[in-house]
Amino acid sequence: MEKVDAVVIGAGIVGLAIASEIAGEDREIYVLEKETAYGQATSSRNSEVIHAGIYYPRGSLKAELCVKANPIIYEICERHGVPHRRLGKIVVANGEEEIRQIEGIMKNATACGARGLKLIDADRVHELEPNVRADAAILSPTTGIVDAHGLMDYFYREARRKCGADPLVLGTEVTGLEQGGDGYIVEMVSGGEGFEVEARAVINSAGLHADRVADMAGIDVDREGYRIHWCKGDYFSLTGRPPARMLVYPPPPRDEASLGIHTVPDLTGRLKFGPNAYYVDEIDYRVESDRDKFWGDIVKYLPMVRREDLHPDMSGIRAKLQGPGDPVRDFVIRHEEDKGHTGLINLIGIESPGLTCAPVIAEVVAGMVKEFF
Ligand SMILES: Cc1cc2nc3c(=O)[nH]c(=O)nc-3n(C[C@H](O)[C@H](O)[C@H](O)COP(=O)(O)OP(=O)(O)OC[C@H]3O[C@@H](n4cnc5c(N)ncnc54)[C@H](O)[C@@H]3O)c2cc1C
Repeated sequence: MEKVDAVVIGAGIVGLAIASEIAGEDREIYVLEKETAYGQATSSRNSEVIHAGIYYPRGSLKAELCVKANPIIYEICERHGVPHRRLGKIVVANGEEEIRQIEGIMKNATACGARGLKLIDADRVHELEPNVRADAAILSPTTGIVDAHGLMDYFYREARRKCGADPLVLGTEVTGLEQGGDGYIVEMVSGGEGFEVEARAVINSAGLHADRVADMAGIDVDREGYRIHWCKGDYFSLTGRPPARMLVYPPPPRDEASLGIHTVPDLTGRLKFGPNAYYVDEIDYRVESDRDKFWGDIVKYLPMVRREDLHPDMSGIRAKLQGPGDPVRDFVIRHEEDKGHTGLINLIGIESPGLTCAPVIAEVVAGMVKEFF
């Protein structure tokens, strides 16, 4: 049986970033991906926002990694020609209650280390975005947008360059993980045929299916709190001239799993709105949400948007660790040594801001696997 140093399961942005970080000429690495191209799942179905680390609880990995990753993403983009734009973001408030809410958000974000935030008044909002209705807002100058595929192309190129070979194996689904040899026997199916490879380290970055992969390795997913709840978000695109240039967010709804329906500008100049959040039992990317509900949320801060100009666009599915109504959970990035699974690194619940955090998640994982190389 072939022996390698590490197997990365899943070629989304996280798996590719990890591969680019741990690759080296003296290391044999495989990145196994069940689809026939990389980045076909959540990594290509998101808002492509470079987050600043505004909303996440202080002390959480989400907050810490996002604040650290934000300038790193810009640096990668600038150095390696990945399309991006530092558009800036405003979180707008209308009325006393929302103003108090954004003041609370501002306090938390500042304590987490988010850079350059300012509370601005209605006049300043009007100067920045004349069509936006707001009594006050948080201005975040370091929030921007990135071409997620461009970023994945970069990580993949880096992984290939550092390996001196192509580590990516497409159309290959991992179906079993057994402890054996110097680490794990990874079972997979490719082109209808079964294969096995022995790996000293296994990195589970399987996104929506990371709980299934952890279960294959013999982890009790329910006892460990690793069960993933799929939470879908739909987007509607706007025809006509975009009424705002920046990213414009409402205050996050208190009882929902989303940040609120916000503007989602892309690098071609098109504008979408979304994503909302609702839990689902199957992976179906058709847009199912009600246009009127979307429109009702949007016109609170962009009153000139017309209902008939909104069209169902795309959707993505979040890999959430919390189910409906549960408290917010953090990323799990864990070497499972203490559970008797030396060499198994689980990445579970890598929802937003996972795209932004990918290069820093990769550094954390590289620190965990270095003892196996
Ligand atoms: C609606 C929405 C909006 C978002 N917006 C943002 C945003 O603006 N900014 C931000 O920072 N983050 C955002 N995110 C989060 C971000 O998209 C994710 O955190 C990130 O894409 C997760 O990447 P991943 O590599 O972990 O998962 P994925 O991209 O899902 O990759 C996992 C891969 O594993 C493969 N796989 C699964 N099981 C197996 C198996 N058994 N064998 C082989 N391969 C397997 C899958 O095919 C897939 O390619 C958003 C997410 C959603 C859903």
